[in-house]
Amino acid sequence: MSNMTNGSTDEVAKNDAAPATTILLTKKPGVAAPMSVVTGPPGTAVTASKTACIRTFGCQMNVHDSDRMRRMIRDAGYAEVQRYEDADLVVLNTCYVRENAVDRVRGHLGELNRLKKEGRVKKVALTGCIGAANESRELEKKYGIDLILGTHNTYELAEFVGLPGMEETFTPELPGTEGEHSAFVTIMTGCNYQCSYCVVPSVRGRMVCRPMENVVEEIRRLVGSGTRYVTLLGQTVDAWRDPAGSGERFCDLLERVADEAPRVWFTTSHPSNMEDRTLRLIGEKETIVGRLHLPVQSGSDRMLKVMHRGYKSERYRRKIEVFREAVPDGTLSTDIIVGHPGETETDHEETLKLVEDCSFDSAYVFKFSPRRGTEAAALSADPSGTVPEDVAQRRFMEVLRTVEQNAFRRNQGKVGSVEDIYVRHGRTGDGKAVGETWSGHAVHVPTEAQPGRYVTAKIESAGPHVLYAGDPAGRPR
Ligand code: SAM
Ligand code: SF4
Repeated sequence: MSNMTNGSTDEVAKNDAAPATTILLTKKPGVAAPMSVVTGPPGTAVTASKTACIRTFGCQMNVHDSDRMRRMIRDAGYAEVQRYEDADLVVLNTCYVRENAVDRVRGHLGELNRLKKEGRVKKVALTGCIGAANESRELEKKYGIDLILGTHNTYELAEFVGLPGMEETFTPELPGTEGEHSAFVTIMTGCNYQCSYCVVPSVRGRMVCRPMENVVEEIRRLVGSGTRYVTLLGQTVDAWRDPAGSGERFCDLLERVADEAPRVWFTTSHPSNMEDRTLRLIGEKETIVGRLHLPVQSGSDRMLKVMHRGYKSERYRRKIEVFREAVPDGTLSTDIIVGHPGETETDHEETLKLVEDCSFDSAYVFKFSPRRGTEAAALSADPSGTVPEDVAQRRFMEVLRTVEQNAFRRNQGKVGSVEDIYVRHGRTGDGKAVGETWSGHAVHVPTEAQPGRYVTAKIESAGPHVLYAGDPAGRPR
């Protein structure tokens, strides 16, 4: 799912493993070129005196951070360009979750180092999760990086590009992009869990929740300036609590937001925090997309314990039952790790069983990647506990296939239904736009409607990843 097309400034995937089915909310449409940024299409001459290229790797949180940095470079008078060789300043906003993400960034840094030596690129900034990790110092030396920023001090880019310095707020209150049809709104940063395999707590810090009024205010402003789709973001959004201590929880915030915005989604949720009240709210509120992303990681209670996930598979299954009952037409996706140190064949079979039982509409499946400093990396240093690569690969394929078979069956059930489809990406070469139903299904639809518009069309066929609609009835709205 990693996307590295020529001229694109984003290598954005929800995650960088092959997804069992495509999740189309992974990339914010239009993120490479917000309205007021001067953008030079690949190959065109850019005449502004200063130019910058931002390339994003990783999850929605990174896409959102890139949006903010894009704002800063624009305010500092830079024109945004798509190619490194056209840029005075290159910002690599990076992901550290798996080793292959780091390998890709190394490749880009090598190329940038060469362009710098040739005088074609002047400055390189490394930001995001790699920037927050110790490894960044080694990269800085090796590749001659000019600025390293972690996820908590992104604001320092302002000074680097010549703007007045900003204050660290610890709540993500730097302005995002307004005026586009869809926007991310961060409601919390960091994570208080300590999953055995995960670097997020060390690179993003502990959970900090943003005050409800502050979130609602931003959403009003966005909606007022034309945003039609708001995605609430955080590593564990459902762990959100009112920082002022009023006792309000995520479902209260979601309800408020659903009253303000015309279309709402949220990600990512943690099963231990997910309340039945929230699941029911998804079914009750017309403005909330009926799609739940609830990472399970494993179907084995033994592995869930090793991973410190804090729940058993039975609890997860119960949550899914509540969701399916509350949102019968909804879509469910998850994250699964195969090959974590200590995972046996029995554990793997339990994962396959859970995948069957939950009948996911899509899943991101990852092969375990040891991350420096995590508990699982230490476990993987002991060969007796590691899962051989060929075994991990087989398990990976088995989980992927099981997810796809279920997803295909479920998608077939949508054929013949008439859907209101929100256009996320405009028409491409094949004449189809990419949209999303209220149930959260991805749909290809033949329309010229612009992103942010709705069309109504009948679903004519379905694959494991996407539905295919016929010609829409009536005009886009
Ligand atoms: N906070 C979310 C949660 O707990 O479900 C997930 C955040 S993490 C950035 C996204 C996904 O990457 C995880 O759900 C997990 O499946 C995967 N992941 C994280 N660390 C990994 C590792 N070391 N190896 C393989 N996959 C990993
Ligand atoms: Fe990582 Fe676990 Fe926190 Fe998710 S909940 S960000 S997997 S530590």
